[in-house]
Amino acid sequence: MRKLFIAGNWKMNKGIKETGIFFNRLFELIDNYDSIDVAIAPPFTSLPEAVKMCREKKVLIGAQNMYFEEEGAFTGEISPLFLKELNVDFVILGHSERRHIFNESNELISKKVKTALKHDLTPVLCVGETLKEREDEKTETVLKEQMDSAFNDISPDDAKKVIIAYEPVWAIGTGKTATPEIAGDAHFFIRKRIKELYNSIVAEEIRIVYGGSVKPENAKALLDVKDIDGALIGGASLSADSFAKIINIGMEV
Ligand code: PEP
Repeated sequence: MRKLFIAGNWKMNKGIKETGIFFNRLFELIDNYDSIDVAIAPPFTSLPEAVKMCREKKVLIGAQNMYFEEEGAFTGEISPLFLKELNVDFVILGHSERRHIFNESNELISKKVKTALKHDLTPVLCVGETLKEREDEKTETVLKEQMDSAFNDISPDDAKKVIIAYEPVWAIGTGKTATPEIAGDAHFFIRKRIKELYNSIVAEEIRIVYGGSVKPENAKALLDVKDIDGALIGGASLSADSFAKIINIGMEV
């Protein structure tokens, strides 16, 4: 049985004060959520506040990115050691905004995945095709390239620890959600590729979550799909009320 992972990605939103307000409200709205993993990735500067507020609440806190080196002349970058020092649990890697706005390559993301695993930070590896790639029927080729690169040289035991987020680029922040059928097909393909790269045990254990305009109105239909093990939520995670609704839906599926 795979535990559902319901995570918010705040992107470049919410400083320290707003982080405090969010969690105070969230904890008024959710309770007894041990059956699923609830997680938030705030901006770097709000991480200490988020970790402090969630310490006793069993909400996982993650970073939205990090560098693959531990220290040195890398102006503006964040080391995995700094995240460990803050007791961060996971790190989002290869988000489509990192790939497309900041030109992160499969090769760079692969190095980051290895570094995260080395430091016991759960990588939330984002993969997904653009609208053009989907229209050109290249979805599976793109997903395969992104996954093969990210899992290159990763042992089966480490591979199981990775959470894959299937995030079609055309559905992120656009209000357009993949239908449960489209998302289900992509998740099935991703799990099948993991089986080919490793074995059926890794494929059965690894969690694959969906991201792309998830909101309370569409969460149930998506989370009901067999191969969808949770959600990575941008816009709808900025409001404690809508994020709590999705968590409560997750607890019921
Ligand atoms: C995301 O940022 O990973 C995301 C899926 O955003 P949204 O839910 O706003 O589409």
